[in-house]
Amino acid sequence: MTARKKTPLKLTACPDCSGNGEITETVRVGARKGRVTDDRQAALCLTCLGTGEAPDGE
Ligand SMILES: [Zn+2]
Repeated sequence: MTARKKTPLKLTACPDCSGNGEITETVRVGARKGRVTDDRQAALCLTCLGTGEAPDGE
């Protein structure tokens, strides 16, 4: 096992939003085709619910 440096005070950044708390999702048009447009919109990260912290898996 490789010894890992512990950073107890540092919060783990959410992997989905990189700690931003929000993600940029591609805007899709058309309910069936789901065509991807160039537009992107900011959306609340559902993984961390906007906190930017990764939920602990315990
Ligand atoms: Zn997140």
